[in-house]
Amino acid sequence: MDISVHCDIGIFEWLMQWVKKESLLEADWPQLDSQCVIPILVSAAFLQMEPLLHDCLLYCHQHMNEILRTATNLNCLNDSVLTRLAAMYTNTEVESIKDRKDKIQSRLFAKLIQSLAEPDPESVRGHWCSLARLFRCEKCQQLITPNVAAKIPCIPSCMRLEPDGSIVSLHVRDSSWDINEYIVKLHKTLKTWRKVYWRLWGDSHFLYCSGCKRYFQANQIGWCRYHPDAPQFFTLDAQKAPLPIGRYPCCGERAYRFQLLENYSGCQFKQHTVNLDDVRHSAIFTMLESYRHVIEEEPPQLLFPERLTRLVARDLYRERPRLWNPNRSEYKLKTKKNDETYLMPM
Ligand SMILES: [Zn+2]
Ligand SMILES: [Zn+2]
Ligand SMILES: [Zn+2]
Repeated sequence: MDISVHCDIGIFEWLMQWVKKESLLEADWPQLDSQCVIPILVSAAFLQMEPLLHDCLLYCHQHMNEILRTATNLNCLNDSVLTRLAAMYTNTEVESIKDRKDKIQSRLFAKLIQSLAEPDPESVRGHWCSLARLFRCEKCQQLITPNVAAKIPCIPSCMRLEPDGSIVSLHVRDSSWDINEYIVKLHKTLKTWRKVYWRLWGDSHFLYCSGCKRYFQANQIGWCRYHPDAPQFFTLDAQKAPLPIGRYPCCGERAYRFQLLENYSGCQFKQHTVNLDDVRHSAIFTMLESYRHVIEEEPPQLLFPERLTRLVARDLYRERPRLWNPNRSEYKLKTKKNDETYLMPM
């Protein structure tokens, strides 16, 4: 059978030597180098010379930076060859490729995204969690994976108190949210597959903060909310204990002494206190630290429309005499903005 191969004569000679290498001295065996490996790889794939193809892929993986320094065009690598080549790379290795003209790096990152979406994460490649089961909650709009969903606070009406006193979240999967559309949208805003990959890596990897006692997405490492000042509880009568309501002097936000649902509020952001007892968590955290500059997202801007300033007793008897109950007093909360008042039955 005749087979025609489109390659230059030098490459063809190399291929023939490789085929006949059993009859040659080992010193005369043809050697791969950064100039010839890509044309040989393409021919080997076309001619289905599987052992040679495998050697070429190994060579490319080990010497990619040298190959990229030559004038070789890498556009000729078809999808199946690229998929096999990409499967040899960890995310750290793809990140360390020096590819100013982007001959291959973006395509390898796109393949890494596919690998991140496999249901079973490959920790050797830097994936400890999978993108496969990520969903958006239609109540709180957060992206969550089922294994940590119960421990990420949702809106109060979707939180349940368990018989043992713990509180679990019951997020509701938003069926209109689609991971493919999300990735396309990310690529439009972030422009490169590298940035999209690391965003998705951050979206799918969760860590636990022992400060705010909740799971958070790795790209929100700097989003631990807190108030720098301790709450001040209002007092009306110096003889009595302060009321269970007050304000944070730093921002004027309401503070309650007793509440069933933990308050995750705060007017400032700091880094979460990552719990590193777990081997998997510490591996995720190490990777996050290494690529923090590309993974981390800026915290959102916080607005505090109601700044509480003080509490004043309300003269109920004069305003609503028939409703007045001497055992039940009411207070007004004074806020700075427009001096609005908020009623707070006590
Ligand atoms: Zn939710
Ligand atoms: Zn505050
Ligand atoms: Zn935290």
